Amino acid sequence: MSFLRAVRVTQARPVRSWKPSTAIFLSPIRFASTSPSQTLKIAGRDVSVPTGIFINNEFHKSLANNTFGVENPSNGQEVLRIQEGREEDVDAAVTAARKAFESSEWANSDPVWRGELLNRLAELMERDKEDIIALEMLDTGKTYRQASTLDFPGSVGPLKYYAGWADKVLGLTSFNIPGTFAYTRREPVGVCGQIIPWNFPLLMFIWKIAPALATGNTIVIKSAEATPLSALKICELIKEAGFPAGVVNLVSGFGKTVGNAIASHMDVDKLAFTGSTATGRTILKASASSNLKKVTLELGGKSPNIVFPDADIEKAVEWAAWGINMNFGQTCHAGTRIYVHEDIYDEFVSAYAKRLSSLKVGDNFDSSVDQGPQNSRMQYEKILGYIESGKEEGAKIEIGGKAAKTGPEGGYYIEPTVFTNVKPDMKIMREEIFGPVVCIAKFRTEEEVLKYANDTTYGLASAVNTKDYERALRITNGLKAGTAWVNMYNFVHWTIPFGGYKQSGFGRECGEAALENYTEVKAVYYNTGLPAPK
Ligand code: ADP
Repeated sequence: MSFLRAVRVTQARPVRSWKPSTAIFLSPIRFASTSPSQTLKIAGRDVSVPTGIFINNEFHKSLANNTFGVENPSNGQEVLRIQEGREEDVDAAVTAARKAFESSEWANSDPVWRGELLNRLAELMERDKEDIIALEMLDTGKTYRQASTLDFPGSVGPLKYYAGWADKVLGLTSFNIPGTFAYTRREPVGVCGQIIPWNFPLLMFIWKIAPALATGNTIVIKSAEATPLSALKICELIKEAGFPAGVVNLVSGFGKTVGNAIASHMDVDKLAFTGSTATGRTILKASASSNLKKVTLELGGKSPNIVFPDADIEKAVEWAAWGINMNFGQTCHAGTRIYVHEDIYDEFVSAYAKRLSSLKVGDNFDSSVDQGPQNSRMQYEKILGYIESGKEEGAKIEIGGKAAKTGPEGGYYIEPTVFTNVKPDMKIMREEIFGPVVCIAKFRTEEEVLKYANDTTYGLASAVNTKDYERALRITNGLKAGTAWVNMYNFVHWTIPFGGYKQSGFGRECGEAALENYTEVKAVYYNTGLPAPK
């Protein structure tokens, strides 16, 4: 009976029949005017993208009417200009998010309906899949292969997954304490600030918003200044899906202005950040010196990948190549320190160098290309700087070691680079390079390699290649990292928690764990006969 009623309630609230509350309509925010969409020609395809600041389900010009340019990394050319938010736009976005949160239609809404909205958004993304992928390729330099097999499914998947969670976030009950009955409620935290990086703009956007929306929060999100396009496109679909105005707000712009304004805002309840460890530190300070908003950080990495002689060497080479080729080294969990047992060292190094040399570097719109451009001039120069430092510190270059003379003029192409003869204190062994650069070192014993692997300030990911499952257990137990792979690399699924040890951050994204970030636990006690203490 109650099940039937629940079904009826769901059917009585079709996504499109919902009307925003008066509170949302009465928003005092005034914008100069709306901002139009622009149509881009991407690989022969006309793709329209909104260019404004997305507040209250409308794209506006920024209050100061500033704009900034978006670049195509395959040729370094500006492709369009979009509205650049500043502090005052963040204020307006937070006001909208607060009003939407306070309206009972959202925070106390039927979770089944929130799940339906997330599923509807996933359907709209599937409808517009090719446009979204084209934008992501233009903005980031990703190949079609990677954008369509990683970024896109890795974004739609979590939307559907958290849609399923929306009505399953429950509390506990306790009759265990004599004289009381207690239960817990999982309540949304409130207005969530979210700041995302440029390496996975679409995927990071969805990873951030999906668990927050499933649990009834509202959002002010900032995309990375280098890659704002897919987020703008998804906001268009958020409105079409029927999310109430003010539930998701996007302010494009720079870290020092928009990012800092979100991190320091007195009316933002929670902040989720993915990016560099240095910026993570700044954000934590901003929270501490403003309203102590709850912070979760997913930061950098310098992840070890260990190869034992009993591994299937061919497969280990293949996975280790993927460990750096995925997103062309621009992932926080890239396998950049490979430790190979001395018995197979020479064999592995030569097979690995051969495999990476076979990767075709070039224009990401060429379907035969395996490695596109790095995302920006700044990154490109930073990576080349690290390669120079490796040479200066005496590491040996097995392959690569310079800019790749390929692709369109002006693009940010770098040869896959393998260093050997590396020492633990070299910069290339300690710092996150975020490019197609790998260091290979030799080891003898399990104890020794665990010491090497854990000799880092980071702790995001790690891997071991072996057919001996007892050794795999010993090593994975000993690795100080949030993820440990056995006989694979760079495989992250949205149903499994992801996050870091040490200076790779705290809090977990994905899986049930992410719901913790977006709910407060309220304990409610009922007196069932307990006398007041004297
Ligand atoms: P990367 O070094 O990989 O570019 P960052 O940590 O600088 O990574 O950038 C990740 C995100 O953090 C981007 O959206 C960026 O604009 C934002 N950001 C940068 N500096 C700050 C800051 N001081 N406060 C808040 N956000 C920032």
